Amino acid sequence: MSWKESRAKKVFSQHLLSEVPFAPQRSYVSMVVLREFESTAVLTTEGQMLDVEVVRAGHQHTELMSRVLLQKRKQVAVERRTGRAFNRQLGIDDCDFMGKMCGKCPDCLIYGYAATTDEGSQRSRLITDSGFSIRSYDVMQRAITLNAIRDTTQGGVSGSAFAEREHIRPQAYFPTLETAMDVTPSELAYILRNILATTRYGAESNRQGYVKNHLVALLFSNAELISNLSLTQSVYDRLAKQNGGKLDEIPLDLQQVITAMKDTLHELVEQAFLPVTIYTGDSLQEILDSLRLTWRSEEGNSEWLQELREDHQAYLSKRSPKSK
Ligand SMILES: [Zn+2]
Repeated sequence: MSWKESRAKKVFSQHLLSEVPFAPQRSYVSMVVLREFESTAVLTTEGQMLDVEVVRAGHQHTELMSRVLLQKRKQVAVERRTGRAFNRQLGIDDCDFMGKMCGKCPDCLIYGYAATTDEGSQRSRLITDSGFSIRSYDVMQRAITLNAIRDTTQGGVSGSAFAEREHIRPQAYFPTLETAMDVTPSELAYILRNILATTRYGAESNRQGYVKNHLVALLFSNAELISNLSLTQSVYDRLAKQNGGKLDEIPLDLQQVITAMKDTLHELVEQAFLPVTIYTGDSLQEILDSLRLTWRSEEGNSEWLQELREDHQAYLSKRSPKSK
């Protein structure tokens, strides 16, 4: 399986830049991801309460609703870690997340890094925002009592202190977009690999927080199409209409949610001022299938990684010709 001959590479090359630019060109690709929690999860910033925001339920259903938040850094930070573990497998191990960033690996160049010395920095080329649950906090949360000693100290006296912590129940859905700006085809594949290979989100993720990321659409454009909140509200309106206004009693149906997302996106693409190319359904599946074959084949994988390295070497040598 060849990366260069793959459907993914062909489609990405039609829409994306062939090299990493120095000045922003606003070549956007949005990855529309439905995040489905398949186990309970802790989505608290600190303390015991879930992160909640009061917003309108939908665009048509304008009553207020408390929604659970999936903070943006909780999405991207874990996906970066997936990529960094992959990089270490490939022998890139001189980049330290908490300490000094190397400034030349795919993680630094795509997701950005801050300069610790005067060696420059890179703004993140990934634009994200917090995600909102489709249903309300009241039907999604569950307080679980934890043995606080076990969780906070090592070798404490067991059973003497308990704390309650709010969890979200399984089968909670968060429609989200991650938008990459001015990336090359090989870089987009790197970001998609991180999204598709990440399965744990939230605190205590060694025990819970299992998430399935469903890629629902890819959008190529020169502008952003929709925010996470607005997408969630549109999906809510559609589901409420189909279910006679009752969304609280039973968990939502995955296919119904995906269809509502697709219908919303197609409608917006029709209305957009600038051209947007959307891949969803079969046309998206073709791309995903070819990525799967690329990553599972030794030749395909190394061809893709070679291209990623070349994209970054070209950028780095242009950025600082002397240090090469
Ligand atoms: Zn790095």
